[in-house]
Formats: sequence, structure tokens, C-alpha cells
Amino acid sequence: MGFYDAFKDALSVAQKADNVELYRQLLDLSAQALDLQEENVRLKSENAELRKAKDLEARIIRHTELYITLKEDPDDLYYCAHCWDIDRRLVQLSCDNSDGTFICPHCHTTGIFNYGKFQSTQNEISEMGPYCF
Ligand SMILES: [Zn+2]
Repeated sequence: MGFYDAFKDALSVAQKADNVELYRQLLDLSAQALDLQEENVRLKSENAELRKAKDLEARIIRHTELYITLKEDPDDLYYCAHCWDIDRRLVQLSCDNSDGTFICPHCHTTGIFNYGKFQSTQNEISEMGPYCF
């Protein structure tokens, strides 16, 4: 029997006994029990969110540049370290594979995710000489 049914039965008994004060106190307790039940639902939801965030936090891999990756991520995606640090929000970076750089579509943080590609691009630019521009 849930508490709602238990209160209903107790209210019925108090009503039959014609005990107005007991009936009133049971109504007050019933209202408090409903408040506690609502708070319990809210706290369970909040706890689930916190557990989810904690599990995600444990998967974060930091790098020298301002991007993060996740352990056991089959897609090997890159996320913005700045957005994670500020909002605990995973924002996928827009990576440019032609020069190894990235930009965050949310906060516009930029950086290099592939130094090899970035260096070869820089070498190509410097080989062009100063008069190519
Ligand atoms: Zn960002």
C-alpha cells in the first residue's frame, strides 16, 4: 500500500470517528508527504544528471591545445575545452583537415589539432616566398 492509500484510509477512519482535529492533522501530513514525494522525484532526477556529468568528466582527455577528446569514443571527435570548462557542455569543434586547425562554432576558440598537417601547410606557404601574396 502506498502512502496515498494509507492516508486515504486514515482520513476515512478519522472521518468516521468524527475527529475533526485528527482529520485536519492528517490532511496537513498528507500535503507534506506529497511535497516530500515531489522533492524526492526532483532530487532523483538531479542525482541522475550529476552522475551522468561525473561519468562524462571521467572520460575527458585534455591536450596541450584547447580541445578535449573522450576516452572510448569510437568517432574520435574533438570538443572545445573552453566550452567544457565554462558550461560543462560538449561542443564539437569544426576541424579543417587541410591545415590541421580548428574553431569552436560556439565560442570561436581557435587552435591546432594536427601539428603535422599544420607544419606542412606552413612550410608550403613559406616555400612560396614573400612575393606570392
Ligand atoms: Zn567553445
